Amino acid sequence: MKIVADMHTHTNVSAHAFSSLDEMVRGARDAGLRAIAITNHGPAMKDGAHQWHFGNMGIIPRVMHGVTVIRGIECNILPPDGALDRMEGWCYNALDYVIASFHEPCFPPVNAEVHTKALENILKNPRVQCFGHLGNPNYPFDQEYIISRCNEYGKIVEINNNSVNARKGSEGNCVEIARLCKKYGVPIMVSSDSHISYKVGGFDNALGVLAAVDFPEELVINADFDRLVEYFRLARKIDITQ
Ligand SMILES: [Zn+2]
Ligand SMILES: [Zn+2]
Repeated sequence: MKIVADMHTHTNVSAHAFSSLDEMVRGARDAGLRAIAITNHGPAMKDGAHQWHFGNMGIIPRVMHGVTVIRGIECNILPPDGALDRMEGWCYNALDYVIASFHEPCFPPVNAEVHTKALENILKNPRVQCFGHLGNPNYPFDQEYIISRCNEYGKIVEINNNSVNARKGSEGNCVEIARLCKKYGVPIMVSSDSHISYKVGGFDNALGVLAAVDFPEELVINADFDRLVEYFRLARKIDITQ
């Protein structure tokens, strides 16, 4: 399986990431990718980008260095009920792609019941396309309940390469989540969650998770550029080739 787009990356507008937009896109080009999604943390994170960063993403050329650039955000799931970062509507409306993730500084872990309830509200939130790094062991939740309902609400799931390194103990959860996505036919995105350009396009851990469950390639949206284009056309009414 060849992944053609890195669908979760951070630039140095987040203080804990170290490469510029241009460097990240060059990193994608050097990794042989067709597309990259820039998905900085929403403003609720301590070093998240200001809402105007997101509102102004439309000025980024659609293609840089031969790579399609997808304008995204990694929103913070907020306690207690799973609200997203508070931003004005025009800032959300400028975006192509919204990931929603639990992060410890924004949502101190509670228990599976609370996490599942928050994720259920994300399921129902039309601003969100994708669940980010659901395998984090600090956030147990009812995996079958949430994943079995993703297609009903048009949600997809990320398999995050960085989880194995950054969120210790994720791997078993990621395998189980991939197994459930396969069982329920839920499409996924593979991502590096890179915080520096040299890591863009690194998917070995995530591909290992998919191999462990013999995950069907046709459910991996970003394993084919035309499939990725079609996803955005159907899910967001956006033509990412323009
Ligand atoms: Zn994250
Ligand atoms: Zn991230």
